[in-house]
Amino acid sequence: MHYLSTRGGVEPIPFTEAMMMGLGVDGGLLLPRAIPRINRSTFESWQELSYGQLAFEVMSRFIDDIPAADLKEMIHASYTSFTHQEVTPLVHLDDMHILELFHGPTFAFKDIALQFLGNLFDYILNRDDLTINILGATSGDTGSAAIAGVRGKERINIFILHPHNRISPIQEKQMTTVTDANVFNIAVRGTFDDAQAIVKDVFGDIDFKTEYRLGAVNSINWARVLAQVVYFIYSCLHLSSHEKDRATSFSVPTGNFGDIFAGFIAKKMLPEGSINTLLLATNANDILARFVNEGDYSRGRVIATSSPSMDIQAASNFERYLYYLYDRDPARVKDSMERFKQEGKLDLTSELDKIKRDFTAVSVSEGKIRETIATYYNQHNYILDPHTAVGVYAATKHRKQGIPMVCLATAHPAKFRESVQMAIDKQLDLPKALRSIINKPSRCEVMNADKKEIMTFITKNALK
Ligand SMILES: *Cc1c(COP(=O)(O)O)cnc(C)c1O
Repeated sequence: MHYLSTRGGVEPIPFTEAMMMGLGVDGGLLLPRAIPRINRSTFESWQELSYGQLAFEVMSRFIDDIPAADLKEMIHASYTSFTHQEVTPLVHLDDMHILELFHGPTFAFKDIALQFLGNLFDYILNRDDLTINILGATSGDTGSAAIAGVRGKERINIFILHPHNRISPIQEKQMTTVTDANVFNIAVRGTFDDAQAIVKDVFGDIDFKTEYRLGAVNSINWARVLAQVVYFIYSCLHLSSHEKDRATSFSVPTGNFGDIFAGFIAKKMLPEGSINTLLLATNANDILARFVNEGDYSRGRVIATSSPSMDIQAASNFERYLYYLYDRDPARVKDSMERFKQEGKLDLTSELDKIKRDFTAVSVSEGKIRETIATYYNQHNYILDPHTAVGVYAATKHRKQGIPMVCLATAHPAKFRESVQMAIDKQLDLPKALRSIINKPSRCEVMNADKKEIMTFITKNALK
């Protein structure tokens, strides 16, 4: 399987090269040349597979430049760090199914991709005798999951910028208490956008990027999307037998279009009629909901909500969907993305019918999020985190009689304890692994939102 850029400027490259490239050198995003189709009998034969076995079956169809035995071992290593035997168990609450994606080391769904990504980087770097310096900015969850994925790996140094004093105390501790020598936390005096802008600027400095072999772990990396395709398929296979024969709908809380795009790929792979509706759920930052409902993709101001990991106004993975929406025409994608960069908006009303065939979308207010958390606690004794509640609320509004609905649970409620406690009026205990980090020593550099200062720091601490 070879990979192409959404903007048409990259010669077809094999998987591992696409993985190392991250963002396409032409500024586009990388995608497989074709989406492999799974026929019905193969799909049915996957019924009894464990999560890891299924991950191998799915991923190996996109990865043909790593020997099967090595890929299997990497997948195995990635998911043994999860505390639940099933990795992503389904919980059934009456007729709503909750797919718990938060049993990894940092209690959010990003572990599912980033545990694998860490091992994959390590494998490629050893194979090719290379080193890499990973650079990223985080509003909380990505940073800790990325750090957990690469800590202690000899051929990788990781530099993660977060906005100083603007992430939750637990999120900060999760990152800064990792004191392995290859981990560098930088707290930037400024907002997440300031930190993100610096990272983009540094990546844009091609000489610097090449000299220090900078690598990316954000969801522009195809391997992250690929790892997330697996649990959509896994849950289709693990519904109760009377529901399994029906097409399954998914409700996906999203901000960056990453998780919902993984669902879109899963739908394309599986036999016709396996996946029904892909419900795209956003918080008050509704750019993606406006896009699906009105064909209006225009950047607004970022609003702070109780689901901060979705407080995003420009979804990086959106470009991948645009490529399919435009019938895989890279010239049109390039043109549109350049226009979006300049004008901050795209008018896609002419494509509305097509978009609505792919997605249904809902934007969920803070009040509804709180209400949903309270309702599920009172009626089911089940505690939703605010991100998950966004998807669950959307699902209650849009589910159809007789069609099974799976809601993706993207974080453990304790990770966003303050908002959850307010909604259910009850103190939440922290899981042991989170409790133990509160008093651990931490290491972090506090720096100005100054590109030069940060580049100097990277220069001093990068793997040569
Ligand atoms: C990152 C994140 C999301 C959104 O993921 P997308 O990549 O934007 O789809 C949702 N919930 C939690 C808890 C997250 O950390």
